[in-house]
Amino acid sequence: MSHIVVSTWRFGLASNQPAWEILKSGGSALDAVVRGVEVAERDPAVRSVGFGGYPNAEGEVEVDAAVMDGRNLGYGAVAGLRKIATPTAVARRVMEKTDHVFLVGNGALKFARAQGFEECNMLTEHGRRAWKKWKRERTGPPADVHDTIGMIALDQHGNLAAACTTSGAAFKLPGRVGDSPLIGSGLYTDNDAGAAAATGRGEEIARTCGSFAVVEHMRQGKSPQEACEAVVQHLIARVPSARPFQMAYIAIDKYGNWGAAAARSGFLSAVTSNVENQLYKSRFFIGYGGVG
Ligand code: ASP
Repeated sequence: MSHIVVSTWRFGLASNQPAWEILKSGGSALDAVVRGVEVAERDPAVRSVGFGGYPNAEGEVEVDAAVMDGRNLGYGAVAGLRKIATPTAVARRVMEKTDHVFLVGNGALKFARAQGFEECNMLTEHGRRAWKKWKRERTGPPADVHDTIGMIALDQHGNLAAACTTSGAAFKLPGRVGDSPLIGSGLYTDNDAGAAAATGRGEEIARTCGSFAVVEHMRQGKSPQEACEAVVQHLIARVPSARPFQMAYIAIDKYGNWGAAAARSGFLSAVTSNVENQLYKSRFFIGYGGVG
């Protein structure tokens, strides 16, 4: 069994490192993805995830995150969570410590507090200045500024896990939730088939249950690459409003093969395994004009 971790975007590579250490030493895929994405969540330079993410239209950072465990289709998620820098760890607690799967807003914050998570001011000086500028200059809908970290891993025991965490669309309406914490949209995994995660314009991605579809394509025999391409193609064909936007999927199958596809150029996958530790430009994109 060939263990591997794959994540989205340039910042994925730093996040893969602690995940890989866990996988290498025989740890679980679930521990790996939760620990891995925490690097991006805590990094103020990553302005689309966790601490330091761009705020909503009222100047408050609200984050969404989810985890999934391929052993038993375990799922936990939080959305509209304020003041907590590590929402994926909270999502894991929802999965493991409650008999629910999804907590939102104040309920999620109360739960995180009760679980001992520390509160912090998530709005950095950079975020505050960007928000003020947007408030002064906005002429239309909020800028298309976002980029989630999705991470998927296969461990040495053949178990798969997925995590997906984001501060969502910059300057969004308070309470807005995209695809990232939604099972089947932002992420999906099943030990019997594979794992997938999404990034990009959540309003469009959420319409096709694409991460679920990627995993189901792999179950039917497609390679991870073929599965990601099929889902991006379907999204573009079926949701014309998606065409101006960047949307991408990463996938691994239960043997540790990986693939990625994006609607536009510029998408990067971070891949760490026994044989490599590097960023790849997406090998497939459809390339309509528009915002990226
Ligand atoms: N998918 C995320 C969301 O819509 C944002 C992104 O990945 O760029 O919230």
